[in-house]
Amino acid sequence: MQEAIRTILKEIGEDPTREGLVKTPDRVERAWKFITQGYHKDLNEIINNAIFHDEKNNNMVIVKDIELYSMCEHHLLPFYGRCHVGYIPNGRIIGLSKIPRIVDMFSRRLQIQERLTTQIAQTLQEILQANGVGVVIEAKHLCSMMRGVEKQNSAMVTSAMYGEFHDCAETRAEFLNLIGKS
Ligand SMILES: [Zn+2]
Repeated sequence: MQEAIRTILKEIGEDPTREGLVKTPDRVERAWKFITQGYHKDLNEIINNAIFHDEKNNNMVIVKDIELYSMCEHHLLPFYGRCHVGYIPNGRIIGLSKIPRIVDMFSRRLQIQERLTTQIAQTLQEILQANGVGVVIEAKHLCSMMRGVEKQNSAMVTSAMYGEFHDCAETRAEFLNLIGKS
């Protein structure tokens, strides 16, 4: 990877041997390994048995404002923002700290925001067999902002709604209201 980064530095007209850049390939490699570590995460290890049975609770559970950092697969530039997750249990609940870790597992890869949203929602639905799952991501994309493609402050909002979140307008409205999106 370091050789490839030296090549990029040369191609943009830089001198990879100058003092400020000598260690850059090493730093970039380490940064890239960190921000793409999601490829090597194992879902079962993340969950680590933190699924609990609770037949009585079928109230909506929400984890909102989960910080999210990912990389656009079209430009290899970051997009970042917030992820909001809700579900309606059907006998299974998940330890709340696990949801941000599932978000990280999928966001620390090359992504497009639409697929990231779907992957998080589908994974939760598979694990929890819930009565409904809703995921909303609002993110800013440096690939558009830095290149002046969009207005600088515009954010992209994507959602994936399954089960009751999809079928029932009232449930969906309650979710959007609780995450401050209605
Ligand atoms: Zn992009």
